[in-house]
Amino acid sequence: MASDTNQRVHRTAAILSIGDELALGETVDTNSAWIAQRLTVHGVKPITHVTVDDDLVSIVAIMRELAARVDVVVSSGGLGPTNDDLTRPALARAIGDELVEDAEALAFLTTRFRAIGRELLEANRVQTLRPASGRCLDNDRGTAPGLAASLMEDGRACDFFCLPGPPREMRPMFERSVLTALHPPRDRVVRLRTLHVFGLPESQIPALLGGLMERGRNPVVGTSAQTGYVTCKIRYEGDPAEADAALDGAEAQVRAALDPFVYGADEETLATTVSGLLRDRRETVATAESCTGGLVAKMLTDLAGSSDIFVGGWATYSNEFKHGSLGVPLDVIVKCGAVSEDVARAMAEGALTRSEAFGRPATHALSITGVAGPGGGTRVKPVGTVWIARATRGDDTDVRLFRFSDQRDAIRERSALAALGMLRLKLIERTDVKLLWEQ
Ligand code: AMP
Ligand code: MG
Repeated sequence: MASDTNQRVHRTAAILSIGDELALGETVDTNSAWIAQRLTVHGVKPITHVTVDDDLVSIVAIMRELAARVDVVVSSGGLGPTNDDLTRPALARAIGDELVEDAEALAFLTTRFRAIGRELLEANRVQTLRPASGRCLDNDRGTAPGLAASLMEDGRACDFFCLPGPPREMRPMFERSVLTALHPPRDRVVRLRTLHVFGLPESQIPALLGGLMERGRNPVVGTSAQTGYVTCKIRYEGDPAEADAALDGAEAQVRAALDPFVYGADEETLATTVSGLLRDRRETVATAESCTGGLVAKMLTDLAGSSDIFVGGWATYSNEFKHGSLGVPLDVIVKCGAVSEDVARAMAEGALTRSEAFGRPATHALSITGVAGPGGGTRVKPVGTVWIARATRGDDTDVRLFRFSDQRDAIRERSALAALGMLRLKLIERTDVKLLWEQ
């Protein structure tokens, strides 16, 4: 744990990403988002993210600027052995310290190199330098030790933690050396809970949630649209002792207001939710996909252990395969077109029947046939027209027409989600509910 001598409270944080490749957009900055999430969970509030290129003067200036604004700065990048890696000299200059060689870091690095039969190069020796008043942070995944030091700016101290750029080195160092040195305020935490919504447009959610989304409210709910679904984040900021009750209360309100469209929380997806519902009932599903080419099957089989609930599927792209594999009558295809209610119904019912012949009769079958574009649209069946059917043993087949806007990828993704969404409605006995994009 942190030493008793350092009683500074870390309320606010800045995240600093250092590197030409980040400033130019060649490398996507994943470190900042990860660090911000970890800090937030631990009660330290990130208030700004800054990216700077490998320029000594700019790095020093930004370090000083941030030191005046926040209690802690976590940087990543610029600790490598090459000339463009300037985080060490920048931090020393910002503090007004000399760079000194860290004996322990040097011994550690020498031993590491010897273990792999290599001599320590001068370039690597540079990596054992640290500001005189700072300390090195061990790196057991690479050659660059991290740095910790304090910078006085405008009469207040700001703690700096400088971590290596590669995520696989940065993350363990953050967990081991940064989290343990932080003093989040004891009286205040920030906690998030995420709920996922399928079948409602984002624009309808504020009206349904009433005051829950009003800024300044605590907990407050914010929404963000993803491809095909909407995420509601419930954020609580305040007394740690009240966090769970406040979040539980807000979650129950959101679920009730958006019922039955909330299908999961945090890491859950429509596929995990539907799989769980099927497993609970010891039921199975088969798929018959045209314009999605197997995407529903992929979503289900991405999950380990999916053989419990997924018996198999067909990607029937041509009319011949719809007929040959699933028994869709050719005259129906000719009369109604491959993208039609009758073909969607025949595909789903065909999949159900064919699964019996293989000795693994599915409880449910999902089918999708549509125009994913960009070509192939007509006035009556424009791009984005998709028929989806859910057939269930001993039950009526549910066939729905959807019109999705957007590009091919999004149309296919939304179609696959809508099929899973239709099956979910059946499993929760809410087939009366209409989904977004449904006609
Ligand atoms: P550096 O420590 O600056 O030598 O960075 C080494 C490598 O780490 C870079 O080439 C990137 O691939 C990776 N890296 C650096 N910063 C980031 C970041 N913010 N997000 C993701 N990867 C990064
Ligand atoms: Mg770099």
